[in-house]
Amino acid sequence: MSKEEVGVKRFSKEESSSRIGRIPTPTGYPGLGDINSYLIFPEQAGGELILIDTGICSDEAWQALNDGLAELDLRVEDIDRILLTHGHTDHYGQAQRIHELSNCQLWAHENLWLTNERMRPPPERKELELYYYALWGVDRALADKAISRRAKIADRYHPMEPDHLLKDDEIVAIPGFDLKTIHTPGHCPDEVVYWQEDLKLFFSGDHLLPDITPVCLTQMPRNKGDVRPRALSEYQDSLAKVSPYPARVTYPSHGAPITDHLELIKSYGLSTDRRLLKISRILEAGGPMTPMAVGKELFPKAWESQIVPVMSEIIGHCDILEDNGHLVEQMNNGVIEYLYRSTPAPN
Ligand SMILES: [Zn+2]
Ligand SMILES: [Zn+2]
Repeated sequence: MSKEEVGVKRFSKEESSSRIGRIPTPTGYPGLGDINSYLIFPEQAGGELILIDTGICSDEAWQALNDGLAELDLRVEDIDRILLTHGHTDHYGQAQRIHELSNCQLWAHENLWLTNERMRPPPERKELELYYYALWGVDRALADKAISRRAKIADRYHPMEPDHLLKDDEIVAIPGFDLKTIHTPGHCPDEVVYWQEDLKLFFSGDHLLPDITPVCLTQMPRNKGDVRPRALSEYQDSLAKVSPYPARVTYPSHGAPITDHLELIKSYGLSTDRRLLKISRILEAGGPMTPMAVGKELFPKAWESQIVPVMSEIIGHCDILEDNGHLVEQMNNGVIEYLYRSTPAPN
């Protein structure tokens, strides 16, 4: 993958299209760095200015957005419409603040409410969340910590009501720059990739990222006993969904443009296979284990401080192992245990 510097710029026709601009703003999340907002400039002066993703709701991000726009001879007031790739705080956080100055519209996928609700569940949901953490073998103190950490993250944005809810396959009409909405759940339930057919370009949100593998966050069922969505399996289906597109350039929300999305998807596949094998070996050696116990072995340094992504990785991969008959899930005193059955063969 290219290691070009990721700064404010207007792309050239030779690179892709002179109608695309990029403004990175800091997320403040350790290890994540900046998020890229993309601009779609109007075909003709006075036409609609579109912003894809907003940056997180912080003074640093607000300053960076304003500075970036100024560098491109624009102001926040010029933004007519925001398109979201998904509702995570770093993509959605500044929408309300931008709207207050520009009166812009907000368009997002119809599942946005699910991501919003996950970030800001109603208070009575806490009991259900604690039930699921216990089911996965996470102790109470750690579960409480995860819930209060999320509340702090949720404070970093003020959800803005969307003006239009996008459906899979829907065309966002933009003069000379129509975008097709491709629903790609996995990283979160409302993730979309936007496809520009004439230029063969993707705006890939967090679905395709050059430097990090997107985490597919486990979604707790909304009611006790409901079927839990299998986030990593959904993500793999969504990778298969974007694979056939002949993309020349993919603009990700974090990092530099991607020129070969198929190569990237292949590398994700290899790292998934490696992780499946590792987990299978841990289970083979350690006997029946809770998701938490597997997490402690696979991520000895990160499990305590990053319980949500760690559990998401374990549960997502164990879903796949279970679907392929390599493990069985059993209950022991109200806690899930994974029991080794066979070792997955590399694809
Ligand atoms: Zn995200
Ligand atoms: Zn992101």
